[in-house]
Amino acid sequence: MKKKVAVVTGGAGFLGSHLCDKLIDEGIEVICLDNLLTGRIENIQHLLTNKNFRYINLDVTNYIQISSDVDYVLHFASPASPIDYLKYPIQTLKVGSLGTHKALGLAKEKNATFLLASTSEVYGDPLIHPQNEEYWGNVNPVGPRGVYDEAKRFAEALTMAYHNFHNLDTRIVRIFNTYGSRMRLDDGRALPAFISQALKNEDITVFGDGSQTRSFCYVDDLIDGILKLLLSHETLPVNIGNPNEITIEDFAKEIIHLTNSKSKIVYKELPVDDPKVRQPDITRAKEILGWEPKVSREEGLRITLEYFKKELKQK
Ligand code: UDP
Repeated sequence: MKKKVAVVTGGAGFLGSHLCDKLIDEGIEVICLDNLLTGRIENIQHLLTNKNFRYINLDVTNYIQISSDVDYVLHFASPASPIDYLKYPIQTLKVGSLGTHKALGLAKEKNATFLLASTSEVYGDPLIHPQNEEYWGNVNPVGPRGVYDEAKRFAEALTMAYHNFHNLDTRIVRIFNTYGSRMRLDDGRALPAFISQALKNEDITVFGDGSQTRSFCYVDDLIDGILKLLLSHETLPVNIGNPNEITIEDFAKEIIHLTNSKSKIVYKELPVDDPKVRQPDITRAKEILGWEPKVSREEGLRITLEYFKKELKQK
């Protein structure tokens, strides 16, 4: 039987590269598109010699030309950490708008199923807690996070329009905070920052008073949920994340404990529009996909710590 073919935009990024691995494991051929703005070739190095994998250096805000048949288009290209999208605000807006348009156009041309990597950021600084998919969010369009949040909100709207107007088979996953190997040490997110600081016995920089909350999902659980969504028939957005919520201050303490570090916590200014709480309501994912996370934070952090230790040694 002919193998299915998936195009993964942003396939050399943290999540994109794990997704490429998973698709290949499932016997699907992968065409990975990435312009390496925030992605890294190291993330896909091990796949470059795999006959079921092809990498093309491409900025997906430009026209995407693929000659072969395509069964799935998974749009993961975008700067995704607050530091990255503040550094690349225009690229972030372009990849969420023009890039989503090109990726949808490719899916339509190939009659492929399209999956959009959306985000819990569509809920902004949420006024309901935990966040379910019916909530429309509380986003400041002109604040520093607006470039990411609004790009993803537009991407969701465009995806639904292609579904409703062109009958395209589409999926939207709203991804909550995720961690694991291949995160960049310097991407500025809490987890890589805290682990790097702890391993170097440097001060741990908690922003604000640390009472804001997040809920961290281990990457293997997330990718498992995304594949289940892809293979389902659900066209409305689905939250995928781990509902186990923790304050950022407690999270910093947990990492100090885990690494046996001598680091002390220091408190820095809270970034503008930093969401005060975040926790996914995963009722829909449970009911529709039969999915829920399996890896505890303790176990996930232990595995991830080994990756960060190796990365730091290479620096
Ligand atoms: N944060 C922090 N110290 C850091 C980096 C982040 O206290 O060095 C906080 C940040 O203000 C936010 C939370 O940790 O409240 C999670 O931030 P992250 O950048 O990981 O992702 P976000 O969930 O905000 O997109």
